[in-house]
Amino acid sequence: MTISDSIGPRAVADIRRDFPAFASDAANAPAYLDSAATSQRPARVLDAERDYLERHLAPVHRGASAAVGLSTSLFEDARATVARFVGAGERELVWAENATDALNIVALGMADASAGLAGPEASVFALGPGDELVVTEAEHHANLIPWQRLAARTGATLRAVRVDEHGLWSLDALAAELTERTRVVAFAEVSNVTGYLAPVAHVVSLVRERSPRALIVMDACQSVPHRPTDFGAAGVDFAAFSGHKMLGPNGIGGLYGRAELLDALPPARTGGSTITRVTLERAEFLPAPHRFEAGTQPVSQIVALAEAVRYLDELGMDAVAAHEQALAARLVDAVDALPGIRIIGPQAGVARAGLVAVVVDGVHAHDVGQYLDEAGVVVRVGHHCAQPLHRALGATASTRASAHVYTTADEVDRFVDALSGVRRFFGVAGADDAGSTNAAAVIV
Ligand code: PMP
Repeated sequence: MTISDSIGPRAVADIRRDFPAFASDAANAPAYLDSAATSQRPARVLDAERDYLERHLAPVHRGASAAVGLSTSLFEDARATVARFVGAGERELVWAENATDALNIVALGMADASAGLAGPEASVFALGPGDELVVTEAEHHANLIPWQRLAARTGATLRAVRVDEHGLWSLDALAAELTERTRVVAFAEVSNVTGYLAPVAHVVSLVRERSPRALIVMDACQSVPHRPTDFGAAGVDFAAFSGHKMLGPNGIGGLYGRAELLDALPPARTGGSTITRVTLERAEFLPAPHRFEAGTQPVSQIVALAEAVRYLDELGMDAVAAHEQALAARLVDAVDALPGIRIIGPQAGVARAGLVAVVVDGVHAHDVGQYLDEAGVVVRVGHHCAQPLHRALGATASTRASAHVYTTADEVDRFVDALSGVRRFFGVAGADDAGSTNAAAVIV
């Protein structure tokens, strides 16, 4: 048994039995290598959602019945559980639909502050011409377009940290974009294309030193599901994540914000349950987190997300990260030996998260994806919502394999094995490819 076959004391084969999606143990069951897009869910997460709906459904924070009280406690207990998991205080975790929504809550709140829709407490969020926002060229569109729109709404300037030929950005490249006028720095803790692990502690100290007025916004969508997280200790101002990538339900995600910032950020969406006092002319808002949670919340998903977090906690996030990084290293080492296939992101021997994207010379990623699908390997193909990054690398699309707690070394090997046949199948294999008839030959 290699390190990739267990997470702490539990064998991955045993972990897979927790997931109805892997009920078939047929040798030809598809290898699911698309968890960076969305993860499979353990039965106990599905059960938690159903149990809430069957036994505890009641309108949270509305009314005085015992049923409402119980449902409200389940809702707020779930917040406490997820908040602990990400290193947030309970008032520092706002429910959002997903990471995209969470990032928009910050950008739209800043737009409102810039338009003068809040008091002096929101001045830290107010932007205008001359102010600067900094993103990286590697961002997912979810952490790019909200900042483009904020710049357009306020007259601020958007600057981008450039990537190198592997799609990686450096602290030096970041430093080159930071000025005293920088008001937002937005970056992903883990890139969904390159698997790059951002040097968060260095980013935070660099930004604080060079750009003391900047808010640091971290897209943690690909990190929270896969490694230990402590937003408070990391020292970022805001962070976003999605439940569906962390073995939890669709339709629920989280926005972390430092309490004093959340209390001052104007709520982008307004309505019932966000207020203290309303007149016909105006409304006063509750402190965080409730000022952001307008309307009826997706309570069953929230309760189930807390169950997903308990499941991950039991596995242990250090062990989860070690398992997935070992799989990625195995994959990179094997693909590195295949001619005509370029690995995007950190190269062999360099730490990366458990996802790997490749470009196959001469074959479009969609053809690669179809070929792999027929070989029983499910991956993601396309630009992965990161068009500027692909453009910088001179590629329109790539093929991404990604791991989670249930991914086996055998699945990784099946991916490499199938990938090794792609160029020959499409008639673009050169003399170099002669030795790559079977990836098993390159996997140790
Ligand atoms: N950021 C990153 C890095 C992602 O990988 C994703 C999902 N692909 C998102 C943001 C957006 O997540 P969601 O669609 O769940 O809002």
